[in-house]
Amino acid sequence: MGKKVVIVGGVAGGASAAARLRRLDESAEIVILERGSYISFANCGLPYYIGGVIGERESLLLQTPEKMGGRFNIDVRINSEVTGIDRDNRQVLVRNLEKGTTYKESYDYLILATGSSPVAPPIPGIEQANIFSLWNIPDTDRIKEYMEVHRPETAVVVGGGFIGLEMAENLAHQGLAVSLVEMLPQVMAPLDFDMAQILHEHLFQEGIDLNLGTGVKEFEKVGRRTRVRLSDGRHLDADMVILAIGVKPNSLLAQKAGLDLNMFGGVLVDEHLRTKDPNIYAVGDVIEVAHLVDGEKAMIPLAGPANKQGRIAADNICGMDRTYRGSQGTSVVKLFDLSVASTGYNEKQLQKKGLRRGQDYFSVVSLPKSHAEYYPGPMPMTLKMHFSPEGKILGAQAVGQEGVDKRIDVLATVMRLGGGVHQLTELELAYAPPFSSAKDPVNMLGFMADNVLAGKITAISWDELGGLDPDKIVLLDVREPIEVQLGQIPGAINIPLDQLRHRMGELDPDREIIVYCAVGLRGYLATRILSHHGYACRNLSGGFRFYQTAVQDFRGAAPGSGFRQVVSGGQDTCSRVIELDACGMQCPGPIMKVNEKMAAMEEGEVLEILATDPGFPADAQAWAEKTGNRFISREKSDRG
Ligand code: FAD
Repeated sequence: MGKKVVIVGGVAGGASAAARLRRLDESAEIVILERGSYISFANCGLPYYIGGVIGERESLLLQTPEKMGGRFNIDVRINSEVTGIDRDNRQVLVRNLEKGTTYKESYDYLILATGSSPVAPPIPGIEQANIFSLWNIPDTDRIKEYMEVHRPETAVVVGGGFIGLEMAENLAHQGLAVSLVEMLPQVMAPLDFDMAQILHEHLFQEGIDLNLGTGVKEFEKVGRRTRVRLSDGRHLDADMVILAIGVKPNSLLAQKAGLDLNMFGGVLVDEHLRTKDPNIYAVGDVIEVAHLVDGEKAMIPLAGPANKQGRIAADNICGMDRTYRGSQGTSVVKLFDLSVASTGYNEKQLQKKGLRRGQDYFSVVSLPKSHAEYYPGPMPMTLKMHFSPEGKILGAQAVGQEGVDKRIDVLATVMRLGGGVHQLTELELAYAPPFSSAKDPVNMLGFMADNVLAGKITAISWDELGGLDPDKIVLLDVREPIEVQLGQIPGAINIPLDQLRHRMGELDPDREIIVYCAVGLRGYLATRILSHHGYACRNLSGGFRFYQTAVQDFRGAAPGSGFRQVVSGGQDTCSRVIELDACGMQCPGPIMKVNEKMAAMEEGEVLEILATDPGFPADAQAWAEKTGNRFISREKSDRG
């Protein structure tokens, strides 16, 4: 017999370590002790099973104890909770939860892969039978069964992190009216507020009732329902409640064994993932990691790191001298039609470190299309990247319908390999019109960042506009007049980009010119023209589109729905429906087309517009209101 390795926890990190150990060492004795009834299940798939997207419960069970035991010759013991570690004698105390018996198990090496558990704060009334957390298969079964038996029509999801959002979406798919409660002013904490606003808008369009900046004070039973009392004095009534307010590491075992923990309860390990006891390794959600960007200590509970760490611990136990270089928090979540991804630090985290915008870090915002605009079906996305004055990428975020994961993965890879913004300009990425553009959105981010560092772009963020002295600046809107009808930043004057060279005399040379267009590109061109003529100027990052989403207040707004736009000339009776396909058009294309079509239409005719840009519904509505037309409805469509 070779060495004996005991693994506590048999899901992501634990199962991964066990399989790798066996592949490296056929003679090792490997024991998995798992307190639950399942090993290696797909935690990440649980919300989709509840939503009916994953149809079969069995699909969630990636491995059974029997299959894993058979294939890898591993002694897998479920319903077996480790309650103590005797480090001196290298033994763990195991409680058989089925029989209620306790026994000792010896080890040469111990791997702690105990994961984390959902936080359940002592809110009064939290013990009600229709209030659930979602973490494992039994939780999932409970929720499923409750839904089948009680047929709930309304749900409150508490917590706007990725599990809360996935649950909100999946419950909505099951036909429930969903309210989301989040204590922070935004959902998805890894995003900057302005990026999260795109999610807020989308949640609102999808009919989710958003309650931001408020927490739960109390749960009260009212008949068969639960009244969720909020800290802002309001209440929400629901047939069921999902709690998804964060996780805490399962480190009591490590703590009782005298291993070192950080202030959040994360187990301290060295770069080999060894605790201070050389025979005990720890991996996954339960450990503190170094952040890849700057080496600072962090808790980053994600499946990818847990799986990789399991493998590294196994490698080291088998004498391979592998190190874990840190986590960067790369994550992605689907939210109805949107994909939301991020890697590295966001702006709040940078500022918490004392870094100052415009000095210690810079940011660029870009609103490209997922692929060449002339090829059918390009989808808009929003990318944001933070970087240091030396060009090091500090973090990036992306929200959109298509190609978002790919862009964040490329950025995460560049970060992992030590590249910076300049390397983004050099990346040669796969291109053909259905997939990307000859200058991929990631290349474009690199060009933008390069320009910022070279002083060729001076940008201003939407949240800096309020601090400007109106007597010292000119706010210049370089969009076409028709776009101005969609709304404007108060106080702006309009000179379309193509007229700027001839009308520059209208601008006061003693004032700084703050330029904006729809998404930032024409604004950039305008700042180049203006700076060549000696004007001090800055371009609004992300343009009016990004500004408009960022400044909206989605708290407490009644949810809406929809997508297909129908605009009519003010009559109640419709004589003819004219169709317009505005999918994938570059701004100001779609609204120009609407304008052209409407000009040629008769009173009483209705224009039905098919669009892919999620910002277009608001534009069309604003345009209709400004031009005396009537906006009839918007609805989602599978067409196109
Ligand atoms: P786990 O996989 O949680 O395994 C720990 C195991 O240890 C548990 O089964 C537990 O029962 C067992 N255990 C604990 N204490 C003891 C003990 N004393 N004795 C015996 N056994 C013990 N991450 C992503 O990256 N992407 C996603 O899309 C994603 N979606 C998720 C969706 C949901 C609903 C959930 C719950 C999690 C999701 N995660 C996602 C997080 C991801 O699942 C975790 O980061 C990952 O599983 C952590 O791996 P781990 O091995 O550290 O812990």
